[in-house]
Amino acid sequence: MLETLRSNYEGTAAPTALQSASRLEDPFRVLIATVLSQRTRDEETEIAGDRLFETYHTAADLARAGLADIEERISNVGFYRTKAKAVKSIAGIIVSDYDGHVPSDMESLLDLPMVGRKTANCVLVYGFGRPAIPVDTHVHRIANRLGWVRTKTPEETETALSSLLPEGSWLMLNELMVTHGKNICRPVSPMCGDCPVRNLCLHGSGHCMPHASAGAASGRRL
Ligand code: SF4
Repeated sequence: MLETLRSNYEGTAAPTALQSASRLEDPFRVLIATVLSQRTRDEETEIAGDRLFETYHTAADLARAGLADIEERISNVGFYRTKAKAVKSIAGIIVSDYDGHVPSDMESLLDLPMVGRKTANCVLVYGFGRPAIPVDTHVHRIANRLGWVRTKTPEETETALSSLLPEGSWLMLNELMVTHGKNICRPVSPMCGDCPVRNLCLHGSGHCMPHASAGAASGRRL
């Protein structure tokens, strides 16, 4: 199924904000982009990230930046005041505790402000190319619709998928699901008639399951 999605979107779909950040091979940029992306559309994440990094290139630059300027540059994303504080604080911690380099282990990442499992997993996948399963609203929703899992929270989905899927598929999973979720398997009214994996999908083949929500408004760290 993942191979079908990959061949369907390869070279045709626009890269997601995190894939764009990943191409720069800078884990710090991936980390900040992932924080900016929380409860924010991909397009807005890219705009804010570009505005921020056109002036501040490193963690040291951002640690020294004025809070008001960070706020202004990312004002198009949701919760930008909270995120501006987090961005500055994260940059300071990366400089003071990690010599300017983003840590590549889950435990250290989870200690950073506004970093929950999804964000930490995104940093591992997109920043370091390490196998992990970032479960955002798209992955959670689509995995449930497909019938791969039957879970209520992204954390449950991550656990279930890590048992279900071979590790070799983890790196591509988030990108494919986000692309599929933005284009076809939308949150409301999925376009099942145009879906390349409809015949493999529990929901699309008529055996509907209850809609699963990632609980994005719950206020939890993502
Ligand atoms: S068939 Fe419909 S519900 Fe299933 S993956 Fe495709 S778009 Fe989503």
